[in-house]
Amino acid sequence: MSWNTIEPRRKRPENTITGSRQLLRKVRQIMSGEGSATDRLEYLVKTIARELLCEVCTVYILRAGEVLELFATEGLKSSAIHQTRLRVGEGLVGNIAANARALNLREAQNHPDFAYRPETGEEEFQSFLGVPIIRTGRVRGVLAIQNKVARQYTEEEQEALEMIVVVLAELIAGGELIGAGEQTQAEGNAILPTRLTGVRINSGIAMGEAILHQYRLSIRRLFSDDPEAENYRLSQALESMHESLDTLFETDQLSGSGEHQDVLKTYRLVAKDSAWIKRLHEATASGLTAEAAVQHVHDEMQSRMASATNPYLRERLHDFTDLAHRLMKHLSSENTTAAFDDLPEDVVLLARNLGPAELLDYEAHRIRAILLEEGSATSHVAIVARALDIPVIGRIENLLTRIDPLDPVIVDAENAQVFVRPGEDIQQMVQRTIEDREIQRRVFVEMRSQPPITIDNERISLNINAGLTIEVGQIDEIGADAVGLFRTEIPFMVRSELPNVAAQKELYSNIMELSGGRNVNFRTLDIGGDKNLPYLNKSRDQNPNMGWRAIRMALDRPLMLRHQLRALIQAADGRNLSVMFPMVAEVAEFEAARLILNKELERERGRNGRLPSTLRVGAMLEIPGLVWQLPALLKRVDFLSVGSNDLFQFLFAADRGNPLVAERYDILSPGMLELLRKIVKDCHEAQVPLSLCGEMAGEPIEAMALIGLGFRTISMSPPHLGKIKAMVRSLDTGRLSQYMNTLVGTADHSVRRKLTFYARDHGVQI
Ligand code: PEP
Ligand code: MG
Repeated sequence: MSWNTIEPRRKRPENTITGSRQLLRKVRQIMSGEGSATDRLEYLVKTIARELLCEVCTVYILRAGEVLELFATEGLKSSAIHQTRLRVGEGLVGNIAANARALNLREAQNHPDFAYRPETGEEEFQSFLGVPIIRTGRVRGVLAIQNKVARQYTEEEQEALEMIVVVLAELIAGGELIGAGEQTQAEGNAILPTRLTGVRINSGIAMGEAILHQYRLSIRRLFSDDPEAENYRLSQALESMHESLDTLFETDQLSGSGEHQDVLKTYRLVAKDSAWIKRLHEATASGLTAEAAVQHVHDEMQSRMASATNPYLRERLHDFTDLAHRLMKHLSSENTTAAFDDLPEDVVLLARNLGPAELLDYEAHRIRAILLEEGSATSHVAIVARALDIPVIGRIENLLTRIDPLDPVIVDAENAQVFVRPGEDIQQMVQRTIEDREIQRRVFVEMRSQPPITIDNERISLNINAGLTIEVGQIDEIGADAVGLFRTEIPFMVRSELPNVAAQKELYSNIMELSGGRNVNFRTLDIGGDKNLPYLNKSRDQNPNMGWRAIRMALDRPLMLRHQLRALIQAADGRNLSVMFPMVAEVAEFEAARLILNKELERERGRNGRLPSTLRVGAMLEIPGLVWQLPALLKRVDFLSVGSNDLFQFLFAADRGNPLVAERYDILSPGMLELLRKIVKDCHEAQVPLSLCGEMAGEPIEAMALIGLGFRTISMSPPHLGKIKAMVRSLDTGRLSQYMNTLVGTADHSVRRKLTFYARDHGVQI
């Protein structure tokens, strides 16, 4: 068959599935034939148009600068080729590229994104079906068909196009149509020093050379004549991949218990997901090679889930991306997981996202830091990185296009910033900071056995906030008095299903064990709103922070709270137990929760279980309204813990997650301090123990102010404890509280400056 011979149009096949198969066979012939990439592309659009009985078939390819250029057409004016260009997001084609999602429209003109380009002559076509051309998770172009009549394209027709774009993606990646350089062209000037910012995921400071985490596998053959043989290859590769994952996860560095073990267990389960494996086998049965099947199923999944914002779904999608590449390796001759040779000694690993298994593919001792375009504090890689003590920054926009391989990079995860190709002076400065921190760390370790007692002999109780087993495990090493806040929702968030009573009991008992007899304030689940659990229905709250979360959800769906309290009582097994309820807005809510706890105690007594030797039940004060019910509340609680993160955001009506307003007000404002002073006074009069467990407790100036107001127990994230202890040991509380009396009632926006000067003048280590 010659490229230019056009067969006469045939009638639409009776059976569209047979039609699609036939089309795929032809596509295969075209791809394995001779001719330039342009010739093949041209022939491809003609063939598709003929086989699917449509008047137009076009291919747009993404060029540098986010522009989609018409590269081939059957049916539109050929003079428009290389002339018609659309921005990503512009018109229907741009919409498909922007959302990585197909559009199947009976009447295209009615779509809000429809944009008519006169040079193409497309005004006479009504129906439109376009699918994105995706490769390695990125859109590379769009394939579209059109008809004059209003026609609803069938699912089979859409599937046929989705198969064909696998081929097209490879044709583009070949570099003949547009150069490989242009395909990966970096934005902006890549050689100047640059500073990037993101979100701190795991703290620390590090320097190293940038290594881009990427996959270099290509598909050589797309179609096979022997589906059974491909099926067999696929099964073999799956088997060997599962075996090698078991070996990979047996590393000594991760041998201890903790949530990272759950993360790895979940990953293993995803690797055995029956729906995924079934789809792979179906794709090989339809004539794709095992490699093309893996790619196809993955692209399909990626385009379906591309717009998911739910962190759990994004995590799953990433697991599948990792598994797809892993499986490819097992299908190819480079059947190895340790595919990273010649790594520099100090590696800063860059990725869009990274799975736990991918991280473990590297020699962990070389990884100084991880930078991600996505990622969050509860992402699986974050949990494993924390267990390995690797700093991580996430949500860095366009990270992969702004750093070149082997660029020198400084990662300041404390302040969530990255210096790319830094000048000599910055390198030296950071090197000094790293050394100073090391000295400081040693000082804090030496200080571990010294009590947090102020100059005027006030004992301050310094506690830690934790959410992971590994954080509680550090309690001895950092010399904290207790766990002031254990966020129980975090272990729930890393699991793929709701842990039952037995699993929760094991977790809480482990935490009590690791705390070595110190008090642990277990906060009951603070989920809902923006902290969704993957296995619960997603909330549709407009203001998630003020929505159906924490105790509100627990009282509406009491079974979950009952199970959690049951697990806590059983885990205590005759030891002390301390429980607190989050987001209490009124006394009645506390009482309702307390009643549920009483019922669970009753139940345990009824089955002759061991009850906690002492039980402390507290409330978190996070909602300003509760302050006006304090006298009534304090008669009913054993302790009170101020959640200043939430209290501050509700007091100032300033969303803590929105940088535009979160930093508008200062937590050291006279208003906030006045409120805290009232809480201290009321608790003191009622003789109810009080603590504060928001982020402010971990900042020296803020912590100093709290002590000046009368707080004697504060709880912070573990890395901050050393510096707070140093501050406490240099402080005279009597003098400070006298000074703080002078700040009452001022009209200042903030008293931060005044407090900073006070600290400097009085030798307080801040
Ligand atoms: C707080 O609100 O201050 C608090 C400690 O709870 P979280 O940060 O978990 O909401
Ligand atoms: Mg809170």
